Amino acid sequence: MAATNPAKTLQDEMSCPICLEYFKDPVMLDCDHNFCRACITQYWEGSQTLSCPQCRQTYPEKNLRPNRQLRNIVEAARGLRLTWTKGLQTGRFRPHTTGDATNLTPGRC
Ligand SMILES: [Zn+2]
Ligand SMILES: [Zn+2]
Repeated sequence: MAATNPAKTLQDEMSCPICLEYFKDPVMLDCDHNFCRACITQYWEGSQTLSCPQCRQTYPEKNLRPNRQLRNIVEAARGLRLTWTKGLQTGRFRPHTTGDATNLTPGRC
């Protein structure tokens, strides 16, 4: 395994694979993959089968377990994110904190 940027790794761990943003109301599937509740709900609405977007495991029914621990971590990391990305995306990056910048993507995510 190549050495990776720990900050980047941490950021990946806290990012939803569907919207690529930090988790909002993260929920965990039985396969231990996490998604925003809105993202996985929307993803499943458009598909015939309930499958994990990450590992393709299928489920007979919706079983979303709120991941409070992850949510707390994400909350704490939001401040760090500004530090990490400030130099990279100056002028382009707008934190989605209270909703005035969330009209970039349709839906809730
Ligand atoms: Zn998401
Ligand atoms: Zn999975």
